[in-house]
Amino acid sequence: MADQEKRAITIKKSDDISEWYTQVIINSDFVDYSAVSGCIVFRPSAYFCWNAVKEATDSMFMKAGIKNAYFPLLIPERFLEKEKEHIEGFSPEVAWVTETGNSKLSERLAIRPTSETIMYDSFSKWIRSWRDLPLRLNQWNSVVRWEFKHPTPLLRSREFLWNEGHTVFATEGEANAERDQILGIYAEVTKEYLALPGIIGQKTDYEKFAGGQASYSIEHLLPNGYSIQGPDFHNDGQNFAKAFDIKFIDKNNETQYAYQNTFAISTRELGAMVMMHGDDRGLVIPPKISMIQVVVIPIYKDANREAILAYAKRISHELEKYARVYLDDRDDYSVGWKFNEWELKGVPIRIEIGSKELESNGLVLVTRHDMKKAQCSSYSIGETVEKELSRVQRELYDRALLFIKEKIKKVNSYEELKKAILEGNMAQAQWCGQTECELKIKEETGAKSTNMPFDAQQNVAGNCIYCGKPSKHVVNFAKSY
Ligand SMILES: [Zn+2]
Repeated sequence: MADQEKRAITIKKSDDISEWYTQVIINSDFVDYSAVSGCIVFRPSAYFCWNAVKEATDSMFMKAGIKNAYFPLLIPERFLEKEKEHIEGFSPEVAWVTETGNSKLSERLAIRPTSETIMYDSFSKWIRSWRDLPLRLNQWNSVVRWEFKHPTPLLRSREFLWNEGHTVFATEGEANAERDQILGIYAEVTKEYLALPGIIGQKTDYEKFAGGQASYSIEHLLPNGYSIQGPDFHNDGQNFAKAFDIKFIDKNNETQYAYQNTFAISTRELGAMVMMHGDDRGLVIPPKISMIQVVVIPIYKDANREAILAYAKRISHELEKYARVYLDDRDDYSVGWKFNEWELKGVPIRIEIGSKELESNGLVLVTRHDMKKAQCSSYSIGETVEKELSRVQRELYDRALLFIKEKIKKVNSYEELKKAILEGNMAQAQWCGQTECELKIKEETGAKSTNMPFDAQQNVAGNCIYCGKPSKHVVNFAKSY
């Protein structure tokens, strides 16, 4: 079938992961290109994944006391200019609205690259006294950053979906305490839903958020040794409060500037998920976020068609109580075509029902991530499928974790660092804290500092991998998206 040939993955993941990635996400109907360069369409399967991530995160935010709100898409130019570093960080990527109908606007409006400036204008009106704090708001939206670098669907899209958490506190202590709570939520979502291990740590000063004081991130290391920044948390101190006049009267009747944080998880996570779990057959989607968790495929000839279809329907119906099931009883596609199709789309479990299964009251269950085939009884099939789905979810994470552990190389010399990067690994090194050394390493190896992992800082004693001065931090270096 010509249709099927067109959709086949023609390249191995290990041969050229970039080309493989593009073929997989497009041919599996996960996402598609659009008429606007760098902006993609999330097709139902991808949008389902994102929605599952969003709902999980959102319910944890709610429990933590964070409320949802919505602010305008358009931001007046004068707002963006209020915080100097912030505008410098974003101005090359901002898309502007300059006219409506036939008339030119008196002031340009930015399509939000992020919403600090429009939100904080409101915050400054709403916050008057210590009684108004803390104010912890979040919004789910999309932002536009007209990046000039080569766009890659999901990993580097000009418009992407995310959450923007923006919180305000009376004291620095309270603001700082929020960090671990939020990073904890993100770590749980990436682990439990996307089955992605994350490396949690602080960004270097050079890599931190424009206008912020300290940034923290969860980094995902990918099979090609590239790292991609996952969710992040920024401690903004009083920078924005001073620029946007967010002040309050404290308990001693004195005027104080507030302390602020921002945090986000975005649709880049789906790109990392595809890169990490997918294989030469196509996508591998973790069960918890998969639109279809089980596909039932009846295998029949004209003579036994009715009996097998009836049995497949009964099994599907029974399974609906336990999982998101699709019965693929389309007559106009061959069984082989269907197998390929659902493997390409990454559906976690396939159930095959043929004449042998009909006779024995059994079925064949195939798990996508390891292609293991098992004969099962149809008796208590719901419980069997439930167990298998949680096994798949767990094994995807464990497999990824094992992989990451092997790819992080602790290096003790600059030669070792260069070798690690060249071999497609992440290098963990001691560093003096000077941006100069960090940038030299980036220039000479192509690897940038991803973050300073919390769990590696106990090994800080020693010397900077580049200049040999006493070390202040342990930093991970990797090529990155
Ligand atoms: Zn140094």
